[in-house]
Amino acid sequence: MLEPFTEGTATFYHRQGRDLHTLSGFDLIRSRQGLGRSMAAFAGASLLAELVLSAGTEEPHPEIFETLAAGWDAIVEAPDADTALRTALTGAWSLVALLGFEPQTDHCVVCERPLVPSEPVRFDTTAGGVACVRCRPAGRVIDPASRAELHGMVRGATPGRTLANPRLQRALLRVFLLTHVAHDRAFRSLELFLDEMRASPVLGGGEGDGGEGDGGEAGGLGA
Ligand SMILES: [Zn+2]
Repeated sequence: MLEPFTEGTATFYHRQGRDLHTLSGFDLIRSRQGLGRSMAAFAGASLLAELVLSAGTEEPHPEIFETLAAGWDAIVEAPDADTALRTALTGAWSLVALLGFEPQTDHCVVCERPLVPSEPVRFDTTAGGVACVRCRPAGRVIDPASRAELHGMVRGATPGRTLANPRLQRALLRVFLLTHVAHDRAFRSLELFLDEMRASPVLGGGEGDGGEGDGGEAGGLGA
């Protein structure tokens, strides 16, 4: 019986034309039992697994495997729940990029103009990236710090102590995954992960985080 998130080498006998093959051995490399230690770590690790399962193919893709394994290891090693959540959020965006859905963060998706770092932008979910406020006159503004965080996370850089606007980051992740990766078939672990972020004193983003939740805000992104 294998625990979830276990990594190892399986040896099996391939049977031509059969769906079932005989497993003859399993050499454990890493068990990652620490992922079961907190709900935040478990939710984050599950989200990364579900991303790869839903969007990956059966073709070998070493970089996706390495990023998934490194993400799980970083979550295991996170000293607290907030770090585990920021690490998992970063892993999710890195995997999204490797799976072929990288959001554009430094050029306007409409006019292609390079954006200056201090420039507020808006998100064009359907086009898959940020747009300048002239090309996209309506919708919630993405502040420069949040855009820099997204730009970094897509490239594997975990944001520091907290997020500039946690609520915005939650809405971005949800609307982007549902639109481009899950195709409206919600990930089972996504809401669990977002709930853990919302419950965090550091990443909850308190202000006005009332009954409507992030879902209403996703509409405000102009999805
Ligand atoms: Zn533009």
